[in-house]
Amino acid sequence: MADSKITKRGADYSRWYTDVIAAAELAYQAPVKGCMVIRPNGYAIWEKMQRALDDMFKATGHENAYFPLLIPESFLKKEAEHVEGFAPEVAAVTHAGGRELDEPLVIRPTSETIIWNSYKNWIQSYRDLPLLINQWANVVRWEMRTRMFLRTTEFLWQEGHTAHATYDEAERETLTILEVYRTFAEEFMAVPVIPGLKSESEKFAGADHTYSIEAMMQDGKALQAGTSHHLAQKFAKAFDVKFQNEKGEQEYVFASSWGVSTRLIGALIMAHGDDKGIVIPPKLATTQVAIIPIYRKDDQKAVVMERLGQLTESFEGIGFKVDDREQHSPGYKFNQWEQRGVPVRMEIGPKDVEKNQVVLVRRDTGEKAFVSQDGLAATIREMLDQMQRDLFQKAVDFRAGRTYQIDDYSQFNPILDGPEAGFLWSHWCGSADCEEKVKKDTKATIRCIPLDDKPESGACIVCGQASETRVIFSRAY
Ligand SMILES: [Zn+2]
Repeated sequence: MADSKITKRGADYSRWYTDVIAAAELAYQAPVKGCMVIRPNGYAIWEKMQRALDDMFKATGHENAYFPLLIPESFLKKEAEHVEGFAPEVAAVTHAGGRELDEPLVIRPTSETIIWNSYKNWIQSYRDLPLLINQWANVVRWEMRTRMFLRTTEFLWQEGHTAHATYDEAERETLTILEVYRTFAEEFMAVPVIPGLKSESEKFAGADHTYSIEAMMQDGKALQAGTSHHLAQKFAKAFDVKFQNEKGEQEYVFASSWGVSTRLIGALIMAHGDDKGIVIPPKLATTQVAIIPIYRKDDQKAVVMERLGQLTESFEGIGFKVDDREQHSPGYKFNQWEQRGVPVRMEIGPKDVEKNQVVLVRRDTGEKAFVSQDGLAATIREMLDQMQRDLFQKAVDFRAGRTYQIDDYSQFNPILDGPEAGFLWSHWCGSADCEEKVKKDTKATIRCIPLDDKPESGACIVCGQASETRVIFSRAY
């Protein structure tokens, strides 16, 4: 519905988020709690994300494959940390074909186990390595508190699972993918991110160590937008996957795994949306330009539509839609495309045809421009590029304004509870106790130990012990 009311961000951010999703017709709650129906407007964003990421995976040597949804429960139990981490959120099929199964079948919460069970048959020698596989799939994690796109029981994602001959090579792969994710977030989503290492308590269950990219939302909270894990030899040992190295010795295989999910759509909404609704960055918009012809009489319509036909012939590479629905007024249509976050709106009426112009309105700024019909496609392409850059810059500036270097722990809660909450860069000694205390006192977690951070000696914000670098504390989604 085009006239859905959207709560103002400042009034109730969480309500705003839900309203935006409804108004843009992105998704709605399914009958099963925590599941969602993704509508075409929402799925179109995911398809754009998939295409861009898939191209980058292929360009870095990866291939797609597919592994089963159902995993024997015993597989999950083979890696101790993994099962401990995932057990609380696992769903399993216990009955099928009218009888109880001998062994429950887990619905994949992630696929390391089934994939490493397969790799046992794929890998014998160093010549079989590296193995660079990605899978596009759905997974199920039984979440207690769910939120559309951000945390849902079933979600769509990609999961990469690679196998390597050495620790260093697996490390390079883990970092290569982290860089792919950073590039995607910044260049396609127009969301600046901080790549970093997760603390021991925040790492993936079963990983040697985990890297993530962390983004800031407009309420100052962090959102983990992608993770890349170095699994060392843990899954190879659990599934007995060995290879013969160049010296003819048997050795366990090294691994990485990495993923991003439909939660990125939630990130997109919360990074760029405004009080009118979602704002889709041009590179992720299927409809980049909504064209609204304006006319009253039939003869005007003929003139406008004819010119429009000529103009759009040159729109190659631009995603556009002519909204010629007769039952709705132009005002209704403006509002609807705005709520759907379409980057540019184009209006053309009989007067514009006479003057050889059209009206272009940018979704993010609301700026209205009268532009010549000559070279229109180029003008639009330029506008889309400019908008893509501006969205990114705006997000960079926003984050800069909400970033604090804090050396006094008593400032944590006042900032995090205040209207200007954000990322707190503070020293941390590396102890899990200090990390846990901050979490208990402030609900903030260590988002990451930034990779690009320069070493700086200081004192732990909690205990005062020596620290070599600042880490990022923030409340998070
Ligand atoms: Zn400490």
